[in-house]
Amino acid sequence: MFDDMYREQILDHAKNPRHHGLLQPADIDFEGNNPLCGDRLHLTLRVDEQNRVQEVGWEGEGCAISQASMSMLSEEIVGKTLDELRHIAKEDIFDLLGISLSMNRIKCALLSLKVLKVGAYGLAEWNRTQDEDE
Ligand code: ZN
Repeated sequence: MFDDMYREQILDHAKNPRHHGLLQPADIDFEGNNPLCGDRLHLTLRVDEQNRVQEVGWEGEGCAISQASMSMLSEEIVGKTLDELRHIAKEDIFDLLGISLSMNRIKCALLSLKVLKVGAYGLAEWNRTQDEDE
């Protein structure tokens, strides 16, 4: 029951992605991919003087999970400071998607968070995020 509801939400985000389209110029501009599935996400952000996210824009291609995850995350991050974004955890992405994911799908789901964290803070920060619950 719950799974169905979430599944519909995921398909809706995948079909009608929010904040779609790249920002130019952008303060943060990063592209990443998930070779396992062929997912690709390009994320751009504009921040104000307080390092608060003013605008988000992204483009990508790949499976519904990867694209929906980026679309849902893009709605979450507008208005947050870069420091607040640092605290977004893998579990927050799983909560947004709301369905249980196989190992392969987890990579799809987390590509959005990876692009955000590596783009904003670098690879070291992302590795810390990954290690947290392993
Ligand atoms: Zn995928």
